[in-house]
Amino acid sequence: MSRPRCDLVVENAAQVLTMERPGLVGPRRGDDLREVGAIENGAVAVHGEEIVWVGPAAELATAVEVDANAVRIDAGGGTVTPGFVDSHTHLIFGGSRHDEFERRLSGQTYLEIAAAGGGIRSSVRHTREASEDELARLGRERLDLLLRHGTTTVECKSGYGLATEHELKQLRALARASDGHPVETVSTFLGAHEFPPEFAENREGYVSLLVEEMIPAVAEAGLAEYADCFCEEGVYTPEQARRVLLAADAAGMRPRLHADEFSPSGAAELAAEIGALSADHLSAISDEGIRALASSDTIGTLLPGTTFSCRIPGADARRLIDAGVAIALATDLNPGSCAIDSMGVIVGLACLHLGLLPSEAFTAATINSAHAIERADRVGSIAPGKQADLLILALPDYRCVPYRFGTNHVRSVVKRGRIVVAPNGRLEAARA
Ligand SMILES: [Zn+2]
Repeated sequence: MSRPRCDLVVENAAQVLTMERPGLVGPRRGDDLREVGAIENGAVAVHGEEIVWVGPAAELATAVEVDANAVRIDAGGGTVTPGFVDSHTHLIFGGSRHDEFERRLSGQTYLEIAAAGGGIRSSVRHTREASEDELARLGRERLDLLLRHGTTTVECKSGYGLATEHELKQLRALARASDGHPVETVSTFLGAHEFPPEFAENREGYVSLLVEEMIPAVAEAGLAEYADCFCEEGVYTPEQARRVLLAADAAGMRPRLHADEFSPSGAAELAAEIGALSADHLSAISDEGIRALASSDTIGTLLPGTTFSCRIPGADARRLIDAGVAIALATDLNPGSCAIDSMGVIVGLACLHLGLLPSEAFTAATINSAHAIERADRVGSIAPGKQADLLILALPDYRCVPYRFGTNHVRSVVKRGRIVVAPNGRLEAARA
């Protein structure tokens, strides 16, 4: 049998975290969350955009045929992991809410600030005022930052326009920011993020606008793969969320849900009922909600940066894991409740704030997060046939990511078989 050819090799890695084990399929649950598939003194071989081999470095020469002019990346005794998959962000927005950050620290709650016209509505004002060019430029700058911190695939939601023209503008800005950028983006329509001020007294009217005008317009423009809704006390009721998400599903945008962030509203149960891809937040999920998620294919996405930033208790991750919920991790990057853009920081908070083990946090931040956006066949682990999205971390062991969190340990990044963050920290031009 001929050996596979390769044109890029990552060698001299103290550890390669494959996130794979024979027989392990689908989103990881329970004890399987701890299976990181670590190979000590490992190497990875890539051809074109694809991984062709991963294994102990001592076997590289017999396992693959390395092209004479192959790119050789010296991991320098560091750790190689899959690129992070951030499956929940609000990447495109105008303005900054550092003033509210201070108000929250002075004792006001997120919901109090929202009731006083701040919160999401303040970002809506700034996003409506911003041009599409401006939003695209800001989005591209944020994608650069994410990439430097090791995120190679990211889900991005609209939801600061809350009017057809502005939601479309936000989604077009995302498409432009992402065009030619190494970070892969996945687009979600979140017109049901809040109620716009002009519909404050007519919430059902806005729900009808979502269903009858906005969802068809977004679907027609082909600008979003998924649809999301902020189902929460004081925002969308489960009935309204069901109506919006079923309409989106019928229009070809699979549902996901902001669920049970501040109070148990039945949102997790709704996510399971309508076959949502993910139910996100879950910091106030009920026992019934946990049971519903555990017996469904819906992934529970935990956002520890948000509860940490809001200084409230985080999701009860251990109960969710013990009950059998497949958990993922994401930043929730947004201008209000969590301005963290680094998945390494999120892995640290998942351990220190939610009590996950480093292995569980890595699984949730890579392969399970990839499942949450239906990309697990291509990204989220290091295995032959998968897309070569790799991080080279200047750390001897993956557990140092949460242990030494707060510093960016990403030395270089490979996306689709190409070096996109060089060891000197330079961002290389995107693949044409
Ligand atoms: Zn969110």
